[in-house]
Amino acid sequence: MLTDIWDEFLSIAREEAGSRVVETWFKAVSLSQWDANSKVVYLQAPNQFVKDWIKNNYLTLMQLHLGRLLNVDMPKVIFLDEAQDCKPAVVPHQEKSEPTFLPAATLRSSQSTSVVKVPYPKNQSHINSNYIFDNFVVGPSNSLAYAAAQAVTQNCGKLYNPLFIYGGSGLGKTHLLHAIGNEIKVNNKTARVLYQTADRFVNEFISAIRFDKIHKFQEKYKDIDVLLIDDVQFISNKEQTQEAFFHIFNALYDAHKQIVFSSDTFPQDLQGLAERLRSRLAWGLVTDIYMPSLETKVAILKKKAELSNTVVNDDIAHFIASRAISNIRQLEGALVRVIAFASLTKQPVTLELARKVLLRSSSPDTTKGVVDFSAIIKCTGKYYSYSLEDFQSKSRNKQLVMVRQIVMFFMKKLTDKSLRDIGMYLGGRDHSTVMHAIDKIEKQLQVDQEFVQTLKRIEDEITG
Ligand code: ADP
Ligand code: MG
Repeated sequence: MLTDIWDEFLSIAREEAGSRVVETWFKAVSLSQWDANSKVVYLQAPNQFVKDWIKNNYLTLMQLHLGRLLNVDMPKVIFLDEAQDCKPAVVPHQEKSEPTFLPAATLRSSQSTSVVKVPYPKNQSHINSNYIFDNFVVGPSNSLAYAAAQAVTQNCGKLYNPLFIYGGSGLGKTHLLHAIGNEIKVNNKTARVLYQTADRFVNEFISAIRFDKIHKFQEKYKDIDVLLIDDVQFISNKEQTQEAFFHIFNALYDAHKQIVFSSDTFPQDLQGLAERLRSRLAWGLVTDIYMPSLETKVAILKKKAELSNTVVNDDIAHFIASRAISNIRQLEGALVRVIAFASLTKQPVTLELARKVLLRSSSPDTTKGVVDFSAIIKCTGKYYSYSLEDFQSKSRNKQLVMVRQIVMFFMKKLTDKSLRDIGMYLGGRDHSTVMHAIDKIEKQLQVDQEFVQTLKRIEDEITG
């Protein structure tokens, strides 16, 4: 009965919050008691992290829908203190185990012996100590991947295994993989963590075969607690190594070792990958990272600047963030160029300097700087029938607010004026208001094709 209610809740949550959220969070939780007298729902979560995340993000959703299903108004939700069991979020379907290249038993026996484990010497782990969770800026584009990565460090091999992180190049996958490794080593000094790019893994395997060192290769992997394989897309189209990889993966998995993969492609879309390996990669939790919003980009830039002991204010960060385009690596590259130039010429980092350095390199926005405010006001105003006075007024009329945000968006996109300048011009508004406006328009552009067309028409008129 309770499980029925929970199942029903899961399907509602899937509708409302999406299946990623359900797979990641709610599937890890169970409904263990319902006290109708005191109207309390008791839930069980596998760990503190899942508990906190759900409480902070989905409490109202739970109260609302569990309340409806249990026929009460907003029940209280309490997480039982100690989770007794720790079940995986997604229970993999049991398949008959196939002959393994690395027998699972070999791996297990190494776990059950009580020999004191010696951690890998630092350099053999291939973990980069600069990539840690603390340096990783969390925003809507990466919060699920980040949270899942953190959860893995607290439930090694138990909760999400394997964890599969996918996303375009330069969006933070490698950073997260190393962060997992670093964090696990902080929590448990003797943990054996190994980071390996998929192609290095493959090469190592091939040379082990060639030089008859398979035994050594097996020895190396059998003692691992955590295996982090980066850029797994490189394994596709390599039949022989796929086979080996498949067996190693199975053996590690059967021995409850934590495995984390990154890839630039969703497992189902990995071309040239044998079907059984493909489906196996997707056994645990698959989570993605996508391009961050302007706001997150600005936060990342400021974090990176801080790490290199440079102060970069909002305007400068915003200027860089709105130029460097397709990923965070490029964003960082632009920042590095600005900081390096400032340091070489012994100047402070200013907006002027950033402009000088970055406008010199080829810019995707060739129109930038050519357009002035009045053209933007004129064309946008004409399209929506508003005047400069309207834009500068304090009116919060819904339609006007939206069009004012479009004006701000164009001003940032098409001129090289600062957020502060734009805010001042439009009735003395704060720069954070401008930033918020731009972010809002960018988000809208991502989901509304008609809006894209409209803005394109207005922009053509402004620049034409
Ligand atoms: P990928 O492996 O997805 O190609 P990387 O992990 O190598 O990307 O990230 C590229 C650069 O961007 C790295 O220097 C990384 O530190 C940085 N980066 C990516 N995402 C973030 C983030 N959310 N916060 C801070 N730095 C980030
Ligand atoms: Mg990478």
